[in-house]
Amino acid sequence: MDKIKLAVYWASSCGGCDIAIVELGEHLLELAQVADLVFWPAAMDFKYGDVEAMPDGNIDVTLFNGAIRTEHDAHIAALLRRKSRCLVAFGSCAMEGCIPALANIQGKERALHRAALETPTTDNPTDVMPASITVIPEGELQLPALCNLLRPLEQVVSVDYTIPGCPPHHDQVWQVLQQVIHGELPARGALLGVDPLTVCDQCPRTREGKVRVDRFLRPHEFIADPDRCLLEQGLVCAGPATHAGCGALCVNANMPCRGCYGPPDGVADQGAAMLDAIVAAMDGQSDAEIRRVLGTIVDPVGTFYRFSLGSSFLQQLVASAMGAAQGAAPSGEETHG
Ligand code: SF4
Ligand code: SF4
Ligand code: SF4
Repeated sequence: MDKIKLAVYWASSCGGCDIAIVELGEHLLELAQVADLVFWPAAMDFKYGDVEAMPDGNIDVTLFNGAIRTEHDAHIAALLRRKSRCLVAFGSCAMEGCIPALANIQGKERALHRAALETPTTDNPTDVMPASITVIPEGELQLPALCNLLRPLEQVVSVDYTIPGCPPHHDQVWQVLQQVIHGELPARGALLGVDPLTVCDQCPRTREGKVRVDRFLRPHEFIADPDRCLLEQGLVCAGPATHAGCGALCVNANMPCRGCYGPPDGVADQGAAMLDAIVAAMDGQSDAEIRRVLGTIVDPVGTFYRFSLGSSFLQQLVASAMGAAQGAAPSGEETHG
C-alpha cells in the first residue's frame, strides 16, 4: 500500500494543537507505517521552499491548526490549499478563531498596544512597538504584518473538513486519522472527531432544568457540588450550546464547559445559543430579574464567545463596522474561499 502524504501546519497558534498530535503516543508509530509526514514545521526541519516545490495536490491531507492573524498565515494557507487534496481545519483557532479572536473586539492597534506595552510581564522601557519593517545597521528586519481581523481558516481558503476542540482530544484525533488511513472520510464539509449532540448529553450531573440564582459566580469563588448541574449552581456552563466530542472533560473535573468544541449541529452562533439556553432555564422570572442576574456575568463577550467569536454574527458586525469606518473592506484581506 502506498503511504499517504500527511502535512501538519501551525499558523497563529499556541502550539497546543501540535501537542494534541504528539499525544497520540504509540499511535504515532502506527501512523509512521502508513503515512509520510511531508511537512510539520513544529516538529521537524522543513522549509517553505519544500512545499512550494511540490506539484499542486501533492499532499493527501493537511491538518492546519491556528488562525489567520498575519499576512504570512494567509499566504501559507493559500499555498497549502493549492498543494493539498484535502485541507482540514484542525482545532478551534482554525475552525472559529478561538480565544485569540477576542482581540477583534478591540482591534489590532489596541491588541498590539496591550501586548507590547501593558501586560504585567512586559518589560519595554522605551515603548518599542512591533513593526513589519525595522531598519538596523546590518539591514532590514521583516515581520509579517497583522491583518485587521483574526480570521478562521475557512474565511481565507476553502476547507474540506473541520476537527473542533481547543485542542481536539487525542482519542478523537486518532479516530479521524484512522478514517483518513482507511479512506473512510464522510462527505466533504463534515465535522470530524465529534459525538452526537451536546456536552450536556455527555454530562453525568443531575439537572432540574431551572436556573434560580441571585448572581452568576466564577469558578474560583466556590467549590461546586460535584453531582448537580453547574449552570444551576450559578456557574456559566456552555454545555447546552457546545458540540459533544470531548467526553465532558471539564464538567467531570468540576469545572464548567467553556465551549471549545464549538456549536452543535444546526447552530450558527454559539454565544447566542448559550444565552438562549440560560434565559430559557430562567423561565418564570420577570424580564427585569433575568436582566439583573445576567448583568452579573463578568466579561459577557469573553464568556459567551470565548472560542467562537471569529465565526459569530458579532464578528460580522465588527467587520462591517470596520469596513464602514475605513470606507472599504479591511485592507490586505482578500477572501479566497
Ligand atoms: S485551538 Fe487551542 S490548543 Fe489549538 S492552537 Fe488554538 S488555542 Fe492552541
Ligand atoms: S449545563 Fe454544564 S453542568 Fe449542566 S448538565 Fe450541561 S454540561 Fe452538565
Ligand atoms: S467540556 Fe467544554 S471546554 Fe471542556 S474540553 Fe469539553 S468542550 Fe472543551
